[in-house]
Amino acid sequence: MVERCGARGVAIKRPSGLNDVSGLIIPGGESTTIGKLIDEYGFTPELKRFGAAGMPVFGTCAGLIILSARVKGRHGTVLGLADVTVERNAFGRQVDSFERDLAVEGIADEGRPFRAVFIRAPVMEETGPPVEVMASLEEGAVMARQGTLLLGAFHPELTDDERIHRYFVEMVAEARRPG
Ligand code: GLN
Repeated sequence: MVERCGARGVAIKRPSGLNDVSGLIIPGGESTTIGKLIDEYGFTPELKRFGAAGMPVFGTCAGLIILSARVKGRHGTVLGLADVTVERNAFGRQVDSFERDLAVEGIADEGRPFRAVFIRAPVMEETGPPVEVMASLEEGAVMARQGTLLLGAFHPELTDDERIHRYFVEMVAEARRPG
């Protein structure tokens, strides 16, 4: 997806790989497992530093949980960079996965909404003052931005619609611009 948006995409497998990129997408999956692997491979301090240094990071679904400062019902967080409280599996189990046409502030309006795919998705139940909510459902916020962090509860890579990736690639380009 990012290559279709004019950026080069590489998979980061070791913390040192972070030195070679200008932005990072933490994808969906299973946040408990991802969190354990992040810790085991020594990523935790490096990722915290990367995010805190203003390098753009986009967390989708489990990636959003990894970035969150508060996870309901769970002690401790992985990166704790985003001032949000997330609830995991907020819409139910795998069988309750669904798609929804979503208006996303600055990206997709009502006239041409984004078809968002939710798979055992979390929601942001609360967002702190630095967080700008970009899309919500009844259960809570599902897309938001906090400075150079982009937070999504759904899977924008599962459609052909590049608008959200394009927005993130632009955030990366913006962060690289001097001054
Ligand atoms: N339910 C998963 C979790 O809590 C997230 C699902 C996903 O990334 N699609 O980690």
